[in-house]
Amino acid sequence: MKVTVLGSGTSQGVPIVGCKCPACTSADPKDKRLRVSVFIEADTQLNSSPLKILIDTSPDFRQQMLAYNISDIDAVLYTHYHVDHIMGLDDIRQINQLQHKHVELFANSETADRIKQTFSYVFDENTYKGGGIPLVNLHTISIEPFEVFGQKVTPLEYKHGPTTVYGFRIGDFAYMTDCNFIPESEFSKLEGLKVLILDALRYREHETHFSIAQAIAAAERINAKQTYFTHMTHDIVHAEANAALPEGIQLAYDGLQFEI
Ligand SMILES: [Zn+2]
Ligand SMILES: [Zn+2]
Ligand SMILES: [Zn+2]
Repeated sequence: MKVTVLGSGTSQGVPIVGCKCPACTSADPKDKRLRVSVFIEADTQLNSSPLKILIDTSPDFRQQMLAYNISDIDAVLYTHYHVDHIMGLDDIRQINQLQHKHVELFANSETADRIKQTFSYVFDENTYKGGGIPLVNLHTISIEPFEVFGQKVTPLEYKHGPTTVYGFRIGDFAYMTDCNFIPESEFSKLEGLKVLILDALRYREHETHFSIAQAIAAAERINAKQTYFTHMTHDIVHAEANAALPEGIQLAYDGLQFEI
């Protein structure tokens, strides 16, 4: 499978509008962070091409499709309902137009309910005329493993302050954004990972996200062959922060690609 990091930034993105700090004024492309999302081309085949799974539709989804030449998506897995993870949903319209198909969405019941509220026009066609609406089928998932066109996906349930978030394991890859506490029950699902992408907001502690130090501790316990941190604020200047990380842990950046 191939994974592309479409965005590695916190909810405001980096640079932050109007900010003159070192990260926001950095010339390093790795300090430009769109809102978090990853695109997975799985080993599982669908109509003779790799199954294409997106995790979250960020507010930058359109820009991310353009940047990485994405013109087809079979399914979207939602981690949670915060706006930096769902607001690009309307841009699924263009996938519908290009591929003449609906896109399958998967979310836990709380996230599915919030998506239906936030995008009520999508789920009640009589309320919206003109411009078209995204054509989607929204499936409610539980903590049990499920299949997306034959590809097994294992949900991982953890805390993000008061909010419950789903991460996802697909093969030997796991994605866990927006996390500040992993319950004991989830560690056995994370054994034998080749690559883990994990939340690490900034150096200082935060109520709802791992700090860099907390993320290092969690990553060392999970012990994936390679861990990448994501959802980073402008407190983090890529080159210097990345150089200080332990072996086997690096910062993700927009455009990072790897095969597993
Ligand atoms: Zn800044
Ligand atoms: Zn969040
Ligand atoms: Zn977030």
